[in-house]
Amino acid sequence: MYNHHKLSLFIFLLLPVLTFAQVKPATSFRIVPLGVLGGADESNLSAYMLAPQGSDNYICLDAGTLHYGIAKAVANKTFSVPADAVLRKYIKGYFISHAHLDHLAGMVINSPDDTSKNIYGLKSTLETIKTHYFTWESWANFADDGGAPQLKKYHYKPLEPGSETDIDNTEMQVQAFPLSHSNLTSTAFLVRSKDNYVLYLGDTGADEVEKSQNMHNLWAAVAPLVKAKKLKAIMIEVSFPNGQPDKSLFGHLTPRLLMNEMRELGKLAGVSLQRLNVVVTHLKPPYNSIIKIKQQLKASNKSGLNLIYPQQGKALEF
Ligand SMILES: [Zn+2]
Ligand SMILES: [Zn+2]
Repeated sequence: MYNHHKLSLFIFLLLPVLTFAQVKPATSFRIVPLGVLGGADESNLSAYMLAPQGSDNYICLDAGTLHYGIAKAVANKTFSVPADAVLRKYIKGYFISHAHLDHLAGMVINSPDDTSKNIYGLKSTLETIKTHYFTWESWANFADDGGAPQLKKYHYKPLEPGSETDIDNTEMQVQAFPLSHSNLTSTAFLVRSKDNYVLYLGDTGADEVEKSQNMHNLWAAVAPLVKAKKLKAIMIEVSFPNGQPDKSLFGHLTPRLLMNEMRELGKLAGVSLQRLNVVVTHLKPPYNSIIKIKQQLKASNKSGLNLIYPQQGKALEF
């Protein structure tokens, strides 16, 4: 009788512990990187699929590399459907941060095999796509605007900075912010699913180098979300190691400049950024330069950011 009682007490106390141990903290988003680098490797350039956890309604943030990244993700069993279904059915729209080739070449090259969807971006970005890529001089016009005949597969959806837009055929909303990227305007996309957010930045320079307020304005806008712990991840570029002269940054960040920006965000949010997920994108080869960037970020990570280096075809969950 006594032993039986002890056993029940043991089970009573242990069962909740065991149950809890098996439950992973709830995540809100799934990100599948299709390409993670800047630079010359055309098989691995900026492109990130993003969906609410449990949904197959993804958007694609930039579209430098699609085909090779999807093939790798399917080979890794990151998706359980064939590659053509990922391209045609899972990707519901493209978000192009700026019209540099390393951010949209995959979309252009894969357009003949693709299905009908929206291309979102700032007006200036869409204008460049319309007048330089989906024209009959450089490719075929798969869009529903620009040179005739229009094949009408893609629909341009200009985003107005400062206002939130529903993303068609997904459960998500987006807000665009302008970024300074040397001679042109790049974009940050703040994506919302219910009450949770991911912030994706296209290529960007630092305010101090670009003589701009764009980063400051972006941090001021997301600071309340950081404070409320609703911002699940920031995806931001670091293209060059420290020591790259300012005049050779061409609108990109170094580890030092990234940490300055994070300090500014921390100040505006008024909270510690410890364990904030920061996904570092657009590292530029050569390999030894990438190693240097990682070492320099680690050495200067005084605030304890959770620095994440995405891998092509491997899902991230936040
Ligand atoms: Zn660029
Ligand atoms: Zn780039």
